[in-house]
Amino acid sequence: MLVNAAEGARATSTLCALRTFQAARGGEGSGALPGTDPRSSTRIWSLVRRVTPFAAVAAIFALQVLTNIGPVVAFPLYLAVVLVTALQRSRLESTALALIAAVAILSWSLIVNVDVANISGAAVLGALLVGLAIGSEEMVRRSREASARAEETLSRLRDSEKTLRSALESTSVGLALADLEGRWLEVNEPLAALLGRTKATLLDTTLAAITAQPDRAELEHALALLRFGDVMHWEGELTALRQDGLAVPVSLFIARVPSVVHGEPGLLVQATDVSLRKRADALRECLGAARHVMVTSVDAERALPELVSVLRSFPDTAVALFWMLDADRQLLVSRCASPMHEARFAPFLEASRRESPAGAGLIGRAWQAGVIAVDEDVERADSTYARRGVARAVGLRSVVAFPAIYDGEVIGLVELLSEHARAPREDEVALLATLGVEIGQFVGRSRLAQALRRSEADHRAIYERSPIGIARVSSTGELLEANPALLRMLEHDGPTMRDNVWPDLLRSFDQAASRLRKAPMLAGITDGSSIQVRAATGSGKWLWLQMTATSIPDITGRPEHVLVMVEDVTTVRDTSDKLEEALTAQRDANSNLEKIDRTKSEFLSIVSHEFRTALTGIQGFSELIRDGGLDPDEVKAYGGYIFNDADRVNRLIGDMLDLDRMESGRMTMRSGAIDINEVLTEAISRAAASSVTVEFKSDLDPRLPIVAGDRDRLVQVVSNLVNNAVKYSPEGGTVTLSSRVEGETALISVTDTGIGIPADEISHVFERFRRVRSGAAQAIPGTGLGLTIVKQIVEMHGGKIWVESALGHGSSFHFTIPLAADGAVAAQLRHG
Ligand code: ADP
Repeated sequence: MLVNAAEGARATSTLCALRTFQAARGGEGSGALPGTDPRSSTRIWSLVRRVTPFAAVAAIFALQVLTNIGPVVAFPLYLAVVLVTALQRSRLESTALALIAAVAILSWSLIVNVDVANISGAAVLGALLVGLAIGSEEMVRRSREASARAEETLSRLRDSEKTLRSALESTSVGLALADLEGRWLEVNEPLAALLGRTKATLLDTTLAAITAQPDRAELEHALALLRFGDVMHWEGELTALRQDGLAVPVSLFIARVPSVVHGEPGLLVQATDVSLRKRADALRECLGAARHVMVTSVDAERALPELVSVLRSFPDTAVALFWMLDADRQLLVSRCASPMHEARFAPFLEASRRESPAGAGLIGRAWQAGVIAVDEDVERADSTYARRGVARAVGLRSVVAFPAIYDGEVIGLVELLSEHARAPREDEVALLATLGVEIGQFVGRSRLAQALRRSEADHRAIYERSPIGIARVSSTGELLEANPALLRMLEHDGPTMRDNVWPDLLRSFDQAASRLRKAPMLAGITDGSSIQVRAATGSGKWLWLQMTATSIPDITGRPEHVLVMVEDVTTVRDTSDKLEEALTAQRDANSNLEKIDRTKSEFLSIVSHEFRTALTGIQGFSELIRDGGLDPDEVKAYGGYIFNDADRVNRLIGDMLDLDRMESGRMTMRSGAIDINEVLTEAISRAAASSVTVEFKSDLDPRLPIVAGDRDRLVQVVSNLVNNAVKYSPEGGTVTLSSRVEGETALISVTDTGIGIPADEISHVFERFRRVRSGAAQAIPGTGLGLTIVKQIVEMHGGKIWVESALGHGSSFHFTIPLAADGAVAAQLRHG
């Protein structure tokens, strides 16, 4: 471009020179007579021009003839005509004319004076005329050729000038020629448009005059260098001033060119509007600076002022503000502003302390809609900007507000104000939207990080200071960390805890968990239930530890590590053990009391029933006897009944007293050598005498050694068992008494074929007042004391008693009595 421009300048200077030449040639071809037909006048003119030289020669010849002037005098006249013709006419015409003129000179000499000298002189003159005519014509031809060539060059240059000029005008670059002082000589339309002027008004100014004051010195310096030829070209960026006062950043290239119009060296000036590039650069720089702040800062709260000050470098921005929501008061609060301390904007910043997020104004709208909001000119009547009054007062004209978005929510708002009415261009809107998201991410993430840091510090403090032991365990069971409380509790240092104590604890946990059918510690997310294990401390003290494990999953859900809470529950456990014992004892005591109470009630009910039954019988039969009128057999029979009833009462009282004596340890035993077979035989005889409903059998071992015991008590035992066998056997049953040696004891059995005892009652029949109250047994009277007394007596002899029974088939009561120490058999006793 520079080369082209320089060539253009050279062409222009050549053109100027040619233009002068053309002007000097004046209106060739402009000789047509006015008012005549151009074609006929041309023909006439051509004829006149052709004839005129010949007429002139004829006229000179005529003059020669008439005035008799010599050839030397006539020669210049002929020569003038021949030369003029040679200059203007063709070679043929001019040569012909010269020949005619030569003939005329020669003819006159021949006519006037036929003198050889005269004739030869005339011939020489004639030849000279012809020669000059030919020479002149040749010269003219050459000059014409040169002229044609020049004309051709001129035409080419004209075309070139046209092309150059249209190129000059059609280029978007401002181009101009200026003299060495910087005065414009030629300017193109783009330059005029760039500088906001017409070409004419621009030509009235200078390069310096359109340069903003701060850059003027630099320009003057450059011009000086170019003027003195120190540099041949200069380039730089300046701020140019348009006619309307607006500043335009311009990239200038100035080259010194050899000559311009008057052969003087000049300047070729190329100017390009770089405002778009500058704006793009500024946008990029603003974005870059904002990103730098965000990338290099951890805490958004602290970085915000710097960020806002960077945002003020957004093109054409005078004030930048950052708004945040005060959730408590439901107000938007301007958190920081730039410039902070510029008095000019102070009233505006003061008015910008808070706004309503629900407000209809620009800020509220941008906040609620979450998109960029623009007020191009707050001076317009339809402006809805809430602070328009104060904005106008401080010279702020337009506003752009864009939201900072995090996680789909507006968490802040940036407001940029300009001193000019403006609407952001598309690329600026896109950039602000991007910036909004980035700022939102920055602020949001920073808040999150801060919350995490706070939470981490809280947890760390809990971990360090917790009175509960906390262990962090890897997913493979190694102890990663143990808090001070755990180390204190188990009285170990970290390494011992990790290498020796923890593996044992883990094993104990899993064993206890397995016993309780719970998951082992590393099984995954536990239900948080606790396991109690025993563990020894470093000083050898045993503790009960309650361990609660919770798995902490990683992002894939797999347990990453396990947190185990460890509490020393030794005291609690001891107390609860003691409490449990006390409770059991209390429960037993209560149950005993209940039993005693129940027994007492049963005793009272049975005893009173027995007494009442017996007394009712006694009373009834006594009345019958008292009233008289009975025959002796009846009296005897009634007396027998009375006796039996009294006997029952007596036995009952005897049983009760016996039992009481036995249980209180007041019963004494008179021990002697007893033939138990004899006791059994007597019992059969007695029972057989009083009962005819059952059959009695005996299966006695004759070699049964004597036993050591109290005979009366053993009689009482056997009688009781035989009576029960009879009592609980239906008619036709069999009662068998047997004896044999069993180890060091005599085993005696009383077996019946009676009603038997229900299986669930068998183990209870020896209890006090225990009676079977179901089936056939319930209808048979009794006190439930007999077997209790029997058992007491057998046990007092050092023996045992038990029963085998099948309901409906009969019962077999067995008891043992230790054999007498000397091992004598009954026969020896009897006979010896
Ligand atoms: P009772 O005075 O009621 O007979 P016992 O103490 O002698 O009191 O017997 C307790 C209970 O054992 C009886 O009520 C009876 O139900 C049962 N029993 C005792 N001996 C026999 C037996 N030979 N056959 C069936 N049941 C018996």
